[in-house]
Order: sequence, then C-alpha cells, then structure tokens
Amino acid sequence: MRILVVEDELPIADFVCRGLEAEGYAVDHSTDGVEGERLAVAGDVDLVILDLMLPGRDGISVLQGIRRAKPGLPVILLTARDAVGDKVQGLDSGANDYVTKPFSFDELTARVRAQLRGPVQGESTVLEAAGVRLDLLSRQVRRDGDSVDLTAREFELLAYLMRHPNQVLSREQILNAVWGYDFDPGTNVVEVYVGYLRRKLSRPESPAPIDTVRSVGYRFADR
Ligand code: CA
Repeated sequence: MRILVVEDELPIADFVCRGLEAEGYAVDHSTDGVEGERLAVAGDVDLVILDLMLPGRDGISVLQGIRRAKPGLPVILLTARDAVGDKVQGLDSGANDYVTKPFSFDELTARVRAQLRGPVQGESTVLEAAGVRLDLLSRQVRRDGDSVDLTAREFELLAYLMRHPNQVLSREQILNAVWGYDFDPGTNVVEVYVGYLRRKLSRPESPAPIDTVRSVGYRFADR
C-alpha cells in the first residue's frame, strides 16, 4: 500500500511519514500543491493525506483536481483546529475524511486503515477488552455497558493502551504515540491522564484495567 503525504510543515510531514513507514506503508511526500496533485493523479498511490494550507496550490483545489482524475482515490484532509468552514468545503469537494491538527498518530492511522479497508469491514475498528468497548470511528467508549465521556486526548490514550493489551508501554512510547510532535519530554502528562482515565473507567466492583508497572510504564490488563 502506497500513501502520498502532501504537507509543507516539515515537523508534521516527518511525524506522519516516519510513522506510516513504521506501520509498513510505502510513503511518498510532497511539500507543495502543484506537485502533490501531479503525484496523486499520475502516481501509483492508494491513499492521499492532504494538508489544506499549501504553497503553490491550496488543498481544496488540489482535492478537486484529484477528484476529477481519480474519483475513487481515498483522500484524508489535515485541517487546522478551528477551520470548520474548511472541513465542510473539503467534504463537499469529495474528501473521504479529515483529521484536525494537532492529531495523534493513532487517530490518523485509524482513519487510514478504515479508508484502505473500505466500509464493509468498518466494524473491526472497535476495540473490546476487560469490559471496555471503544469505537475508533464513532469515538464512543463504554465500560460494562455504561457510556463513558472522554476528552479527545483521554480517548487517544485509551485507544493506544487497548491496541497493545497486556503489554507494558513506557511513558516515552505513550508520549510519542498519543501526544506526537506536540509534547514536552519533561512533562508528567502521561501520569495525569492515566489518572483521569482510571477515575472514569473504574466501577465499584471492578477497578480500571490499567496497571502501573513500577519505573517502567503502564499496561492495559485484559484479565
Ligand atoms: Ca500547511
């Protein structure tokens, strides 16, 4: 599977490209709209990740060019946090999905996998273990059947832990996967968010299934 990343901000492009390569995808990268559109249309790519704010040619017009040439090629947009109009215009112009910056790598790859698999197997984007059910696309979480309200970051953290059940994940691994390019390495944000998650997931008769492994990290325990 080959993915084209069209993004001019190099730290973000780097984070996305290296992460996708680590997941086993072949990755092409372009930093401008004109070249990005040419590669998407002429190249042999299975999916495009397209930033909307690009030099050369803006993302919406790149998207329209791709749609004219390749109506079936999945395109995921990267949009700025508050650019609601961009999302609407992007989806109207034929984007399949979008991710809002700053995003975690887990959130992006869930959307990439969903597009590459097609809608038929969409239900396999649900993670379920230890009484916790997490739907990566609708972003709903349940504990023992009760709905649990999580913030976007809490959701990403839980999804990452649940993707690696019974595996000890270090604080650095968690920071990289969930906070991505946006974190300060000296922060105690992982401890703080694990605390939030435990509080929201625990029930009187069943504690939250997140273990602390002393001086190593954390583990989602699928007992
Ligand atoms: Ca940009």
